Amino acid sequence: MTKTVELRTIEEARRALDAGETTSVELTNAHLERIAATEPTIAALITVTGERALAEARAADKRRVRGETSGLLGIPVVLKDIFATAGVRTTCASKILGDFVPPYDADATDRLARAGAVLVGKANMDEFAMGSSNENSAFGATRNPWDLERVPGGSSGGSAAAVAAGQCLGSLGTDTGGSIRLPASYCGVVGLKPTYGRCSRYGVIAYASSLDQVGPFGRTARDVAILLGVIAGHDPRDSTSAPREVPDYEGALTGDVSGLRIGVPREYSVEGLDHGVDKATRQAIEILRSRGAQIVDVSLPHTRYAVATYYLVGTAEASSNLARYDGVKYGLRAGDGQPLLDMYRETRDQGFGTEVKRRILLGTYALSAGYYDAYYLKAQRVRTLIREDFARAFESCDLIASPTASTTAFRLGERDDPLSMYLTDIFTVPANLAGLPGLSVPCGFDEDGLPIGLQLIAPAFAEATALQAADAYQRDTDFHSRSPAPPTAEGPV
Ligand code: GLN
Repeated sequence: MTKTVELRTIEEARRALDAGETTSVELTNAHLERIAATEPTIAALITVTGERALAEARAADKRRVRGETSGLLGIPVVLKDIFATAGVRTTCASKILGDFVPPYDADATDRLARAGAVLVGKANMDEFAMGSSNENSAFGATRNPWDLERVPGGSSGGSAAAVAAGQCLGSLGTDTGGSIRLPASYCGVVGLKPTYGRCSRYGVIAYASSLDQVGPFGRTARDVAILLGVIAGHDPRDSTSAPREVPDYEGALTGDVSGLRIGVPREYSVEGLDHGVDKATRQAIEILRSRGAQIVDVSLPHTRYAVATYYLVGTAEASSNLARYDGVKYGLRAGDGQPLLDMYRETRDQGFGTEVKRRILLGTYALSAGYYDAYYLKAQRVRTLIREDFARAFESCDLIASPTASTTAFRLGERDDPLSMYLTDIFTVPANLAGLPGLSVPCGFDEDGLPIGLQLIAPAFAEATALQAADAYQRDTDFHSRSPAPPTAEGPV
């Protein structure tokens, strides 16, 4: 009999469930116990949905007895607290939505439920997905399971930490400028941001709508492929969702990368790139070469403008998306409602955190008359140049490889000025601006034992290529099979 706690991947758990070696109730209980043991130190979750999870697990076990074996039947998962969950509080880690209980499910929530997944919790994040460290949560920071003094990355830090700490077998996050890939890299798990339009944004609380995209976390590329197969697909409720067929992502994992052309951009040797990260990335590319991939030199000359462009487009869209939180329709209402303008002001003043306010101000400024052409319009033009860089690069390669981040996880409180925090996103924002899929796969540890991530960017809708390369790489490496030491009351061992 397989010990339930030893089931570390969706693939293994699925096999054990199918073979009758465990049940979803057992699996769910094991994960709820793990949550109870790790939450006091890691704080990856804003809400634990224990009772609901056990009810879902019982239902999954009944369905299995009847012979059903759908995709995620009985598998414990976590959702970032940005996905609407009917009847379960959805806060976006903001005070302004602190008590908000949505009346409906996000498309991703719904697809997971239909595939039989068991929701064990809603993950902590940076407020409204604005941040790279999870420190911007109104519910307190999540800690990195590999080192409790360090950040898990953001904004989907809770989703990544939950998988790394064994609280669930897979999770979902969102990525507007790196929010899936960065925490995946810092927490030593696989994270994928799909092509813009691949997954529906319906029911996902909006930050910057032309960049936001939903995506999965797992320990392996295979688990991420399984999750992507469930959440991808057209949804008429999101007008930007692509009416394209969903390929068999799992079927693409052949282990064969011979002839695959991997581009390494010249511009990615940036200042501040950590030596250990650089070395691990190069070694990872070498492993792919030894499996038959061909390494080519490519250039993405406008990369150096990507962070500035992202922070203009992102804040402009945020300022308009966040106008809806005014104390009238839902969420927090401060003051006694009289006069109306005071109520708006009070509500927004009390409800939003500092970073969210900063971005609303920056975005409103960039969109205002007189500045629109100089900032917003210019940023849109640079965005086109960045997209064209990728189109040109993909004429000579099938994937682009780079580090996911220039350093490993930093210490809590270390990046205390906004600019140094914004620069964390240097390698991840270009893919969002170009709408392309990007994945982070664990590719080593630095001298402090902190995980390092390799980023693979693919052409639009070629998620399967990135997953195929990541899976091939994981067949030759064991970084993903290591786990952080279980935290004790005094901290990690
Ligand atoms: N770190 C970036 C930011 O703060 C990206 C966030 C995201 O992808 N949601 O905007």
